[in-house]
Formats: sequence, structure tokens, C-alpha cells
Amino acid sequence: MGKPRCAICGRFLHGVDYEADTKSSRRPERPYGGYVCHRCLERGIRDAVRRGV
Ligand SMILES: [Zn+2]
Repeated sequence: MGKPRCAICGRFLHGVDYEADTKSSRRPERPYGGYVCHRCLERGIRDAVRRGV
């Protein structure tokens, strides 16, 4: 498996210990957690809130 990359901007996700995350089976509870960088995540959440989703 490769390194997790942001699904939106395509940047590598830093600060996310994916291997340790898998071992402890701990996953971010936030939507898109571990999928997009925090910037895009904030953007997505704001967008979702705006749309009322
Ligand atoms: Zn991003």
C-alpha cells in the first residue's frame, strides 16, 4: 500500500500514522478523515455545512 494522499489536492497526508492506525484499528471519526488533508477537510466540511448536508 502506498502512502495516503489527499483525494482532493493529491498531496501526501503528513502526520497520519497509517500503519499504527491500522494496528490499533483507530480511525478518525471525522468524515473524509485520512482521505484528504486537513485543509481540504475543512473546506469540505464548510461546504457540507453550507449546503446543509
Ligand atoms: Zn488536500
